[in-house]
Amino acid sequence: MRLSLFLIVLFFFSGVIARSQDSSPNKHLPIIDVHVHAMKLNPAFANDLCPWFLSSMPGGDPNQPAPIFINTDCAMPLKAAKSDKEFQDSLMATMKRLNMTIIASGDASVIRSWQKAAAPGRVIPSIGISSSKEMTVVAFTDSLSSGFYKVMGETAPQYQGMSPSDTSLDAYFAAAEKLNIPVGIHMGTGGNGTINITNPKYRASMGNPLLLEDLLARHPKLKVWVMHAGYPMVDEMIALMGANAYVYVDVAGMIWSYPLAEVNDYIKRLVQAGFGKRIMYGTDLMIWPKLLETSIGVIENANYLSFDQKRDIFFNNAVRFFRLDETKYK
Ligand SMILES: [Zn+2]
Repeated sequence: MRLSLFLIVLFFFSGVIARSQDSSPNKHLPIIDVHVHAMKLNPAFANDLCPWFLSSMPGGDPNQPAPIFINTDCAMPLKAAKSDKEFQDSLMATMKRLNMTIIASGDASVIRSWQKAAAPGRVIPSIGISSSKEMTVVAFTDSLSSGFYKVMGETAPQYQGMSPSDTSLDAYFAAAEKLNIPVGIHMGTGGNGTINITNPKYRASMGNPLLLEDLLARHPKLKVWVMHAGYPMVDEMIALMGANAYVYVDVAGMIWSYPLAEVNDYIKRLVQAGFGKRIMYGTDLMIWPKLLETSIGVIENANYLSFDQKRDIFFNNAVRFFRLDETKYK
């Protein structure tokens, strides 16, 4: 969902969080957040955030200034961090307490700083590219080959009005396929009025998960996960996953921005359709440290999910998708 969501809000969602029963009674069961954005804080956009703020999407008038489609009517907004250090310190403390690993894309210097502060292997760097204008294929391949980046994402051609199967991106996906690098592609969500407010090239139609089919056909060994689970196109998402056995999704962004009942209906539908082993936990974390607990609480409190299904979403599915050694994360 990225930068378009900076116009925002929160409250504390105090989910009851399961703890492991093994020899470390105080150690939290591991959680992998597959969708974190590393960025330097921009005070101009460091607004507080109400979770599920898209519960009201009023219309506007094109002759009036662009509307700010947010719901600020919540008792305890999530506070935006005031500095890079505050954000990092808070993130590290939460990751340690909740036994978390994150996949982080964005500013490489921020990612390196997080890696130094976190336990080894707990911050997995990801490189995002959404247009061939951002980086040559050679430079991109070199970045992947360096060994620093383990993942490609967030790739968001939708914000350029492009399909993920657009051939201008094909050589980048070919490089990822060749190097066994999993790829995360933004599909679906953009926030309310994103075209009017911040992203004129964005096209809702380019978020249709079925647009991935040509790309997947061209690159049969490419591992793709659909970021934001293609929200709100659940039927297309189910059709795509049914036909393509290696496609996974994450629930980032949508899990804390769209109406909570809608979020739960969407996740429930995916699970009900048989895809509980292909849903990964993610936040789209940007500048609000408590967003982690808020988003985790949604899954923890989902009464339509069993304990095992929650563990799959929080951990097991990501271990499988990213080919991780789970013993290193327990
Ligand atoms: Zn996104």
